[in-house]
Amino acid sequence: MSELYQHRARKRFGQNFLHDAGVIHRILRSINAREGDRLVEIGPGQGALTEGLLASGARLDVIELDLDLIPLLKLKFGIHPGFTLHQGDALKFDFASLDASPRSLRVVGNLPYNISTPLIFHLLEHAGLIRDMHFMLQKEVVERLAAEPGGGDWGRLSIMVQYHCRVEHLFNVGPGAFNPPPKVDSAIVRLVPHETLPHPAKDVRQLERVVREAFNQRRKTLRNTLKGLLDKDAIEAAGVDGSLRPEQLDLAAFVRLADQLAGQTSPG
Ligand code: SAM
Repeated sequence: MSELYQHRARKRFGQNFLHDAGVIHRILRSINAREGDRLVEIGPGQGALTEGLLASGARLDVIELDLDLIPLLKLKFGIHPGFTLHQGDALKFDFASLDASPRSLRVVGNLPYNISTPLIFHLLEHAGLIRDMHFMLQKEVVERLAAEPGGGDWGRLSIMVQYHCRVEHLFNVGPGAFNPPPKVDSAIVRLVPHETLPHPAKDVRQLERVVREAFNQRRKTLRNTLKGLLDKDAIEAAGVDGSLRPEQLDLAAFVRLADQLAGQTSPG
């Protein structure tokens, strides 16, 4: 067999290649790509998912960082009419450059776990272009994404992602489905950007600020953690009990706190 097929998985690129046909099939079924879809795959690797995605007849842009995988991907999929290969870092990729209509992009990927959180935040900047996202992530990260208020998993990631998206934890995948097997369990998550935000903030940057500050010290009361941003009266004016801890507040309450902050900081 040609050297092209003997790629050694690289740790620094988070390479854990899927080889379990049952799991690959289940992921493809969850995505359910159709002709006419605009798919974007992040980290196609050796093409475990790519093949099935292209078989749907959809248009597919893939973004792969590892230069050594580029010849293999070109060889395997280059002749497909709807296939476009971008070599580069998905964290720096300008999704607006894909010239997609609003709510059209369907983003998928068995993501390198070391970049999954910053990548999701990067994609949320383009939430208006995205119809849905299906990702393989560390199971622990999926639990945080899908968390509800009141527990230890509820935090900055849950709140900022749920501000923009509906989150569905679809199914778990054990280490044996990958080569080499990762040390942790994985899970598939579906993120669907809201058509209309359920709790729109006056300024989403203030929401980011208040959430970050609150969860910096998640064991303290809100009155204490938010001291530098909002005083007791402002917290009360948001209808929030300052003696609660941040993990006890739902998204709507965080948005009310952010709106108080926006009111304080807006000119005039
Ligand atoms: N999709 C393949 C599969 O399921 O077998 C590979 C998944 S592997 C977990 C992650 C892939 O993302 C690798 O091919 C890796 O080279 C690529 N990758 C790592 N960092 C990346 C980045 N910043 N941008 C784009 N691709 C990246």
